[in-house]
Amino acid sequence: MVTWRCRFSDLVRSGLSPIRGIRLPCLSEGGDAGISGVELPGEWSLQLLQALEWKRFEELGAAYFEMKGHAVQMTGLGADGGVDCYLYGRGGGVSKPLGAVQCKARRSSRIGVRPVRELLGIMTDVGCPLGIFITTTTYTAEAEQFAVGKHIQLLVGNRFLSLIQSLPADEQGELLARATAGDHWTPSSPRCGTKLILRTARRGKRVGSQFWGCKNYPGCRYTMQVGAA
Ligand SMILES: [Zn+2]
Repeated sequence: MVTWRCRFSDLVRSGLSPIRGIRLPCLSEGGDAGISGVELPGEWSLQLLQALEWKRFEELGAAYFEMKGHAVQMTGLGADGGVDCYLYGRGGGVSKPLGAVQCKARRSSRIGVRPVRELLGIMTDVGCPLGIFITTTTYTAEAEQFAVGKHIQLLVGNRFLSLIQSLPADEQGELLARATAGDHWTPSSPRCGTKLILRTARRGKRVGSQFWGCKNYPGCRYTMQVGAA
C-alpha cells in the first residue's frame, strides 16, 4: 500500500537537501560541430524549450530537479519506457524514489493520455508516490482528466519555463549553458543515444524524401520522421 504524502510543491520547496549521492551523467556531449555562426540563446524561453531535441530535454528535466537539491537517477536508454528519472529527497538511505519524472519534448503536438497512463503504471509498480510529467507544449483534455486525483502533476511548457525562471540567476545560467552546449537540436537515437543524421530515401514509396537515420547503421537501424521530435 502506497502512502500518498509527497506533493510536487514539497519537492520543489525542498531545494535545500544536501543529498548528492547519485550523480547525474553529464549532459550529452555535442555531436558534430554545430552550424558555425549559430547564436546561442541568452535566456530561457518557450521557443528554446521547444527547440531542444528530446534527449536534451530529458536531461534538462533531470538537471532542474538536481538544481533543486534532489538526488536524481536517470533511468537510461531503453529502461522503463514511461519514466526518465527518479527523484530522491532528503533523509539519505531512502531506497524508494519520491518522484518519477517523464519528460517529452514536442514542437507543437499535445501529449495524449497514453504516456500519462504509462507513467502511472510505473509509479504503481515501483511504489513511487508522485509522478511529474513535463512537456514543452500542453496536454489533451483526456490526459488532464486522467491525471486528476492520481498524484500526477502535468507541467505544460510555460509552467516548466516559469519554474526554471524562478531559480536564482546563476542557476538559470548554468542550466542554460548545459542545455545549449554543442548540438542541442539534432535528435538522438533512442536505441543507442548517438545523434541521428539526415538521410535521403533511395527507394520505396518515399524515395527522395529525407528522414533521420542512425549514424550507427547498420548496427542500429532506428529511423525517425523529420519533424517527429
Ligand atoms: Zn542508433
